[in-house]
Amino acid sequence: MTDAALAPAPVLDQEAKTEFPIPANVFAEKVVSVQHYTDRLFKFRITRPASFRFRSGEFVMIGLPNAEKPVFRAYSVASPSWDEELEFFSIKVPNGPLTEHLQKIQSGDTVLMRKKPTGTLVNDALIPGKRLYMFSTGTGVAPFASLIRDPETYEKFEEVILTQTCREVNELTYAKELVEEVINDPLVGELAAGKLRLHTAATREPYPCQERITTLIENGKLFEDLGVPRLDPAVDRGMICGSMEMINDTKAILEKHGLEEGSNASPSTFVVERAFVG
Ligand SMILES: Cc1cc2nc3c(=O)[nH]c(=O)nc-3n(C[C@H](O)[C@H](O)[C@H](O)COP(=O)(O)OP(=O)(O)OC[C@H]3O[C@@H](n4cnc5c(N)ncnc54)[C@H](O)[C@@H]3O)c2cc1C
Repeated sequence: MTDAALAPAPVLDQEAKTEFPIPANVFAEKVVSVQHYTDRLFKFRITRPASFRFRSGEFVMIGLPNAEKPVFRAYSVASPSWDEELEFFSIKVPNGPLTEHLQKIQSGDTVLMRKKPTGTLVNDALIPGKRLYMFSTGTGVAPFASLIRDPETYEKFEEVILTQTCREVNELTYAKELVEEVINDPLVGELAAGKLRLHTAATREPYPCQERITTLIENGKLFEDLGVPRLDPAVDRGMICGSMEMINDTKAILEKHGLEEGSNASPSTFVVERAFVG
């Protein structure tokens, strides 16, 4: 007899309607909607457990109920802390252990979420300032999608500047639509109007701005485009989310301008988080 034949049959968890029992530290939530942007990017929204609390900008671990030991991956919650649902903005990695399946989810499917949120891209980790820069590449925009919808961000900063750099122009659609929505939102719109601005760049296609964010900071074009002074540690604050290389390069530039890295335990003038490992 084979090992597979000896293995216990999967149990149907009646409450979550999944084939395997759900561990106590995991929520099983329903997919509410899915929107595909490109063959590499999609957004999905799930129900929010009544007991789940998080700070805008934090991340959680997401998985699928497709195995006894599901693969969990870190995901920034893209919706703000007040939202009744939870939104995520995801990559589709070819043959990626999680996203090869996650990209196929549909409304009504179950998504698993570990109960504990965490992260450094939160307002609490920055000391007060005038202007908040959110520097992102690709799905690194997700935590900022949460923060730009949180009224606290506008109570704390007079100007909020979101930058996103992608390879292709259509990868910028999620952020562009979102900023438009935020400005027209009945709850946050009034606070965000005149404060929130988006600066986008596409590096591999013809686009008005085709340079990396590091180049744009160093050559001053970012500040010229926005009509603001160059970085000043007395008034400017930063949050960085992207690849390891983008983070290290941007961090070095901010440090050269006198900003210092902070954390939840020790708030300062900028904070960083990886958008993915690898
Ligand atoms: C703190 C943190 C927050 C994260 N938040 C998000 C998020 O909000 N949205 C999201 O899509 N991913 C996010 N990620 C990445 C995510 O955890 C997974 O890596 C991703 O979902 C792919 O999972 P996978 O199992 O299919 O492939 P993996 O085995 O995890 O990844 C395979 C390879 O794909 C590449 N890759 C993985 N994720 C990305 C990405 N997001 N952008 C570009 N290339 C990538 C890397 O080269 C990686 O080595 C986050 C990672 C960390 C550490």
